[in-house]
Parts: sequence; C-alpha cells; structure tokens
Amino acid sequence: MALQTEYVFGTVCSVDLFEDGTDELYKDVFLRLNSIDDKFNINKPYSEISKINSSAGQKKVQISEECFSLLSFSKKMAELTDNSFNPVMGALTFLWKDASENKKVPDVKKIEEAKNHCNPDSLVLTNSKADDKIFYAELIDKDAKLDLGAIVKGYACDELVKLLSERKVKKAIINLGGNIYVYGKKSQSENWKVGIKNPIDNGSPVAKTVLLESGSVVTSGDYERFFEEDGKRFHHIIDGKTGMPSESGLSSVSVIYSKSIICDVLSTALFVAGKDADYVKRLNLDNVQVIFIDKSGQIIDKSK
Ligand code: AMP
Ligand code: MG
Repeated sequence: MALQTEYVFGTVCSVDLFEDGTDELYKDVFLRLNSIDDKFNINKPYSEISKINSSAGQKKVQISEECFSLLSFSKKMAELTDNSFNPVMGALTFLWKDASENKKVPDVKKIEEAKNHCNPDSLVLTNSKADDKIFYAELIDKDAKLDLGAIVKGYACDELVKLLSERKVKKAIINLGGNIYVYGKKSQSENWKVGIKNPIDNGSPVAKTVLLESGSVVTSGDYERFFEEDGKRFHHIIDGKTGMPSESGLSSVSVIYSKSIICDVLSTALFVAGKDADYVKRLNLDNVQVIFIDKSGQIIDKSK
C-alpha cells in the first residue's frame, strides 16, 4: 500500500512504508502516533499533560512511565539549553496562541505576568516510595503550564522508527508535519534527498537539499505559523527571556541527526538562542548538521 496520511498532532502526518506497507502495519503506525498524541496533546482535556496542567498548584498527578521519561528528558534539555527550549512555557505559549487566533499582540502586562510562570523547576517529577513503577508529576506553580509542542513530534518520529525496525521494515519516509525521518537505505546507489524550505519569499521554494543515508531533518522557522500586526511578523516560537517571539536574526534552523527528538529540541532552542549558541557541543553529539537561514536568506551550514 502506498503512502498513508492522517491528521495527528494538529497537523498532517504521512508515512510511506514502500513495499513493506501492509494494511496492518499502517494501522499500527497510526495507532502509535495517536496514542502519543492522546498522552501529550495540550488541547485534549483527557491527556496526561492536560491533567497535570489543570491540577497545577493543587496536587500531583499519577502519570505513565512514558510521560515521566519524556518530561524528565525535557527538563534535562531545558537545563542544557539555558531554557531556550522550555517545556514549562505554557503560560506564554497559550497567551501567544490566543494572540495568533485574534491576530492581536497580547497586552504587555499579561506578557510580563506570564513570564514569571515559566520556570522548569516548578515541574516536580517523583516516584512512589513503595513502588518504583508508579510515577507522579506536579506543577507547584498554579499559573504554570506544560507545552510539549516543540518536542513531541520528534519523540513520535523516533518511536515510529523503533516500531519499523521491530517489524523489519526496510525503508520508510515519515513526515509528521514537516518533522522528517528517512529510514533505511533508499537504494544501493542512492541517498535520500530532503529539501529545506526557503523561508524567504524570493522565488525558489527550496533553499538547500540535504543528502542522507538515514536520519531525521527537523526545521523550526518563523514562516510556519505567524500573524502580522502593523507590518511586523509575530511567529510561534517564544523567547522566555523577553516573553516575545524570538528575535535572533534567523528565519529558520534545520537540524539533521539520527535522533529526531534531538533535532526537534535543538531546532527550537537554536532558533531562540541564535547561530552562535554552543548547544551541539554541550550535548556532546557527533555527526550533527545544523543549517541556519538568516533573515536576509543567507545560509550558514554548521556540521560536526
Ligand atoms: P517547534 O515548531 O518545534 O519549534 O515548536 C514550536 C511549538 O512549541 C510552539 O507552537 C509552542 O507550542 C511551543 N514553544 C514555543 N516556544 C517554545 C520554547 N522556547 N520552548 C519550548 N516550546 C516552545
Ligand atoms: Mg522543536
């Protein structure tokens, strides 16, 4: 069966399993994606993340091991990126999502107030003393909120890769709303080609083509979701230091690596912090490629 598409994570997700694409396998793939979305989507009131959010400042919530480990990893990534990537930024991101729907920049006072409720330390993760397989999460600040929008698609991509390798799938293309994974070798003689979108509206749709044997390509950009007020663009990636859409001089950051979760975190964090941030070094990763495109359309390719 050829490529299958479903709307998950609030975006279009498609998976192509080529000759291994049976009905049953596609069903399992989308079941896995939907189960992740059901756990982590802030817009689903029954998700584990929503339960933690609605219990903020009141009580701890029992969570699954999967949720515990993604939240622990997110906190670690916040620390390593000086909170440029921050999973406890819901107070600000919810404000900016409303702003985007109403196409109106939020009140300065509201932004200043929300900024005070984005501390990753307010997310407390614990284990039951009696049973180390029972996990809890608590937001100890009643006005803090989780938002895993900058990491969950990367996590889901890696989970699908695990599933595909268990099922001995030879090759696949996973595209979760632009979060790409090309899996397995394309052919004996050819590598996969992934195009990086040109964020500047100057004719050419592709700014650069990346060749890879297998791996993930994730881009964060100011053209993905935005609104304009008085001719100024307000995009969806927020700098916790200012409370505003980040202004690091970049239009997009693409990260290429074997783990999509790392690509997702780093593309967001580097988009906020700018091209000189040393997060790749701090994470001590090899074979990471980062492609920055600045506001003038200049491409800066950093590989390690
Ligand atoms: P991405 O497209 O992966 O860069 O993620 C952007 C989404 O993550 C936004 O729509 C927000 O929901 C959330 N977000 C925005 N800014 C940040 C940030 N600095 N750290 C973590 N999540 C963020
Ligand atoms: Mg991201």
